[in-house]
Amino acid sequence: MRLFQYKTKDENREIGLEKEGTFYNFSKMDSKNSFTSLIEMIKNNSFNAAYISDVVQQAENSKSLDTFGISNNVEFDTPLEACAKILCYGVNYASHAKEGDNPIPDEPIIFTKTPNTLLPHKGVIEFPKKIGRVDHEIELGVVIGKMGKNIPEDKAMDYVAGYTIINDISARKMQFDDLDKSHPWFRSKSYDTFCPVGPYLLPADAISDPHNLDLTLKINGVVKQNSNTSQMIFNIPRLIAFASEILTLNIGDIICTGTPEGISELADGDIVTCEISELGLLSNTVKVL
Ligand code: MG
Repeated sequence: MRLFQYKTKDENREIGLEKEGTFYNFSKMDSKNSFTSLIEMIKNNSFNAAYISDVVQQAENSKSLDTFGISNNVEFDTPLEACAKILCYGVNYASHAKEGDNPIPDEPIIFTKTPNTLLPHKGVIEFPKKIGRVDHEIELGVVIGKMGKNIPEDKAMDYVAGYTIINDISARKMQFDDLDKSHPWFRSKSYDTFCPVGPYLLPADAISDPHNLDLTLKINGVVKQNSNTSQMIFNIPRLIAFASEILTLNIGDIICTGTPEGISELADGDIVTCEISELGLLSNTVKVL
């Protein structure tokens, strides 16, 4: 069972539930709280596997589950519309360091993407032709569930609300040109639509082991990236601890944990699918303007 956010016909947002391929209106099914955002669930300490199963179990017990069914053709929203920070790590897979001729870093390399980049499942990744090569980067996204500063590594996993799929779209030519001039590579990462995310957000306790998830990215059905989160150089506790030494982490912040080898260029009309085991499949099309 997996939760997502979607837009209703009257432009409201509700929480959807995917159960064995069928979609349900979870906001209505949970008549006690009727949460309309996953952030709200996280803040209310209700974003966990036990709470979600209880709501579904009650609907099954009262034989009302089917009445909450919705179309599988919903308009997806990002699972984190109110996210304030997107913190990213670069060169966190040895294989990706090698393909970029980069040394293995001796401490995490952190940068940000701005929240305007967030793009839902089935949304269109758009960028102007004049910026040159733009790449995909499949990454495991870690969502923060509790405010924290100076979080020790051995407590870091207590701060994780859940996991999602991220595609860290990167204007590669612009990034390298800016690096050559010793300029920040900020702009290459923060074009509108440069952070496809979702469709689902899985509670931390619903994931067997976040350090052992397969990641597969395909363009038009052809595999480009294929690895496992076990290959990260710095693990999730280290990444959380490292970021929280610099800044306060807040509920809903997203940490992008880096991409494995196989990055390649996107072209107009491409269909990019990112799949992470247990987390589902994120699909977006590309439009070059
Ligand atoms: Mg990246």
